Amino acid sequence: MYDAILIGAGYGGVTCAALLALAGKKVLVVDKNPAAGGKAMTVHRGGFGYELWPIAGGPSEGSRFHELAAAIGLDPDDVLIQPDFAGEYRFVHENGSVSVAPFTARPSVNPEVSAALPAALGASEADMGPLLDMVAAIVETDPAADPSLDDLDLVTWTRKFGLAPPLEAYLFVSLGIAFAAPLDRVPMSEAIYTFKEMVEGGGGRYGRGGYGRLAEQAVETVVAHGGAYLSNTRVEEVLVEGGRAVGVRTGSGETFRGRAVVSNAGIQPTVLKLADTSVFPFDYVEAVKALEPSLSFVGMRYWLDDTVFEAPMVIQFAADSWWDTDAYRRAEAGSWPEHPLLFFSVPSLYDPGLAPEGRQLVMAGTLCSADPHSPMNQVAVDLVDREMLRSFPEMEGHIERRQAYTALHAANVSRDSVLAGQGGECIGLAQVIGQCGATKPDVRSPVAGLYFVGCDAGGHGCGTHQAVDSGFNVAAIVSADLTAG
Ligand SMILES: Cc1cc2nc3c(=O)[nH]c(=O)nc-3n(C[C@H](O)[C@H](O)[C@H](O)COP(=O)(O)OP(=O)(O)OC[C@H]3O[C@@H](n4cnc5c(N)ncnc54)[C@H](O)[C@@H]3O)c2cc1C
Repeated sequence: MYDAILIGAGYGGVTCAALLALAGKKVLVVDKNPAAGGKAMTVHRGGFGYELWPIAGGPSEGSRFHELAAAIGLDPDDVLIQPDFAGEYRFVHENGSVSVAPFTARPSVNPEVSAALPAALGASEADMGPLLDMVAAIVETDPAADPSLDDLDLVTWTRKFGLAPPLEAYLFVSLGIAFAAPLDRVPMSEAIYTFKEMVEGGGGRYGRGGYGRLAEQAVETVVAHGGAYLSNTRVEEVLVEGGRAVGVRTGSGETFRGRAVVSNAGIQPTVLKLADTSVFPFDYVEAVKALEPSLSFVGMRYWLDDTVFEAPMVIQFAADSWWDTDAYRRAEAGSWPEHPLLFFSVPSLYDPGLAPEGRQLVMAGTLCSADPHSPMNQVAVDLVDREMLRSFPEMEGHIERRQAYTALHAANVSRDSVLAGQGGECIGLAQVIGQCGATKPDVRSPVAGLYFVGCDAGGHGCGTHQAVDSGFNVAAIVSADLTAG
């Protein structure tokens, strides 16, 4: 009998599990993957350590990852890597020329790098006024104090300031990666958290031993505090008795009983597949079916026989590389920008132990539909490959191997596809109007004892940071409920 059973060892699941274990609860973590980390899991093959796609964290300074590391007894400065030179933004002008702007993962230590970024992207002195006005508005805005921000989209809000084209594109491309959603549908009530974090804490954080290593250490904490961790084990069913979640049944038919079941497997797969839908109110099931996934992120991995790249992370874009609803629909219909958003990372440039001497593994990608079977997947993969090779011809002759990844691969390591068009989402549920602020799905399901953790509920922020934020918040809720009995 466990106090809490966690379905899934993604960053939301392991954070919640570790905190509950540290609070004296007996915790079981069950995950279908071979290692903890979920979509940010680190794999080790052929002398390389890497995530399955480009991953870097924001904010880099003062993050929830720092709090997680400290909570489980690690020195955040030791386990989290924040390079002074974290990477480059590359703005492709209409004439094809490229402005390159370095960025830092330690803006408090290197403020001059952040200060130089707008000019490096091609902004003039006069362009700085609107940018500074916007930054001041971000710092002053309290999302909790203004419910109207739930319905105000971030494109409309940002355009009030009249940013110069390279600055607007820089901002929208960064936020497009952060939210993986059409930006004219992302509400300011959600965006403001990430805006603030970007302004104050920068981006480009990684983990020593791989981005997923801290998730493994969180699971080790669970075990060290009397809990258990089952990897390579799929939960097939959430057991509900008398209207209360009482445990789980795994693929091998074993059952485990717990006072709370916390699912990191996604609200839609949990409600529509793992639990019997008849245990939920009809309207709740219909609302869950109507929830919208974030977009996916798909592309190519390159194994190189030389150290071709110097920047750990690169974001390349033109003025039209970001997506609102119309631009996304055009891409879905086959009409992509000439320079699609390109985001890539080189894990061994954060931690040299992650590649054999003199070689590199590069993960590149762009946004795409969450549908594991959408034809957009192949188009996006081909565009990423074309954009990489034409932008970085120095790669030619050094590619030992390349391997595509799509929304289907994201679904395989994270959540099941239980509805048409869903499963390969890069983040989780989309952070769009109608699914954020007052309308963000509740952490507590209508079935007593069944909770959700991770990017679907309970947190704010960008990708893994939202997952860890949720882990902290959900652990507090579950712990209080367990104590109250
Ligand atoms: C291509 C790509 C690029 C990304 N880039 C970034 C980035 O640069 N920065 C960033 O912060 N974020 C990035 N993200 C997003 C980030 O990885 C996710 O938002 C975050 O990891 C989600 O965490 P989570 O805890 O919600 O769940 P997940 O990571 O989805 O974990 C869910 C876990 O549940 C397990 N599970 C599911 N069903 C079952 C079951 N039935 N039984 C047992 N276990 C189950 C899965 O195995 C998985 O381990 C990226 C994602 C993708 C796909």
